[in-house]
Amino acid sequence: MQVTDDLIRGVVQQVLASMRNGTSPAVRSNGNGKAAKRGVFTDVESAIKAAGSAQQTFERRGLEDRRKAVACIRKICTEQAETLGREELEETKIGRLPHKIEKLRVIADRIPGVEFLKTEAFSGENGISLQEYAPFGLIGVITPVTHSLPTLACNAINMLAGGNAIVCNPHPSGARIACKGVHLFNEAIHKAIGIDNLITIIETPTLESAQAIFDHRDVKMLCVTGGPAVGRAALRSPKRAIVAGPGNPPVVVDETADLENAAKSIVIGGGYDNNLLCIGEKEVFAVVSIFNELMDAMTHHKAVRIDAKQIEALTRAAFVKDDKGKLLVHKDFIGQDPAVLAEKAGFKVPADTELLFGETDEANPFVDHEQMMPFVPFVRVKDVDTAIALAKKYEHGFGHTSIIHSRNIETITRMGREMDTTLFVQNGPSTAGLGSGGEGYLSFSIATPTGEGVTTPLTFTRQRRSTTVGSLRVL
Ligand code: NAD
Repeated sequence: MQVTDDLIRGVVQQVLASMRNGTSPAVRSNGNGKAAKRGVFTDVESAIKAAGSAQQTFERRGLEDRRKAVACIRKICTEQAETLGREELEETKIGRLPHKIEKLRVIADRIPGVEFLKTEAFSGENGISLQEYAPFGLIGVITPVTHSLPTLACNAINMLAGGNAIVCNPHPSGARIACKGVHLFNEAIHKAIGIDNLITIIETPTLESAQAIFDHRDVKMLCVTGGPAVGRAALRSPKRAIVAGPGNPPVVVDETADLENAAKSIVIGGGYDNNLLCIGEKEVFAVVSIFNELMDAMTHHKAVRIDAKQIEALTRAAFVKDDKGKLLVHKDFIGQDPAVLAEKAGFKVPADTELLFGETDEANPFVDHEQMMPFVPFVRVKDVDTAIALAKKYEHGFGHTSIIHSRNIETITRMGREMDTTLFVQNGPSTAGLGSGGEGYLSFSIATPTGEGVTTPLTFTRQRRSTTVGSLRVL
């Protein structure tokens, strides 16, 4: 590493900041004599101060240091995917190991980095203007339990590429793996560019620590990924908030569809990580003329059909009422294997079952709720217009994801317009909408109510324009 004035200034600032916070950037004591983790803080104020100071140093560095910082995160996620994926599963106890590992591996080449920051230029007889993307500063990040470290790593790549720093309040049930990731990322970044605490995290997160981040004047922007409550909380803040909110993705299958492909796709998307993905297939509306054939095709892809009695038992077990009588998804069922769901509902299916499915009517709570478990209800409808109308109804206006299997381009176009969702996938699994078997880049934060879509480094930047009057156009 080359020792420059900037580097020395940065290190001095870090040391001063951590002396003020009572911490040392290299080794802090967590109170039991052991070295604490880099970037992991017990209180919000210290985490914000440390990351804020790191961001100021980082902003003065060139793009090359941003590339190096981003490369550190990609490398760790790829090389340690197996260990980190396993630890995430052990802690959160939801989802499937191969998918936990894959979600970290794909971070290497599918999440956009510094290369996404393209300068726009305007040139004419009055001179030139350059439009560029500047950092926001310190960004407050909230992550979900469904992909704790992948979301944090993906946000960190996007945000550091944009020249920002991060203070994260992780989901309490995925905080240990998030803190481990932050430590590893900071350690590697410090080694590569000499800046510590570009990513800080609250070790024991609470709703109060999230609110303190939302309210802190040094936090310039928020990015929250989660369900309706956290989205509402972020939108109440006067700061700019990027909200990656909930979904309940419906699937429409019409009489022109390739049914083998439709069945295979529903199993891939709905079964992925036991249906924890916000984009994952949650309910199917299929027209009557192909309904039975589609149900048969599902069984060719390790999906197991369950009968009305079994569905009733599963529904009774998988939903609970709150004190106001409102139905809620039972926490113990979320992200569990199909065989575990079956066992909890009193029946057995083979251990390698990818997905449970069965026929229900639209009143079944599995249709209405974002259930995040590998049972997908299939509703028989008279025609594709009814299917699209029900898809719209049960997507609840989240504007998240919808899927259709059809060879009729008029029907596809009509559904796309009608649904108005951020992701609209045709003739493939939902995961294709994020570049897995489809085209396009990936993010684990799809900003739905606030409209930024699949987030990129540009999402976390401010546009600035520099205008030169009367010169520099050399033509
Ligand atoms: P969750 O809403 O329970 O928790 C998400 C995060 O918000 C956690 O860190 C939690 O501690 C925090 N939180 C919850 N209420 C809060 C409040 N009032 N104030 C501050 N923080 C609060 O969600 P989850 O179970 O972790 O994740 C699943 C949900 O996230 C699903 O609804 C899914 O669709 C959604 N999700 C969306 C995307 C997307 O890109 N749009 C990606 C992943 C998950």
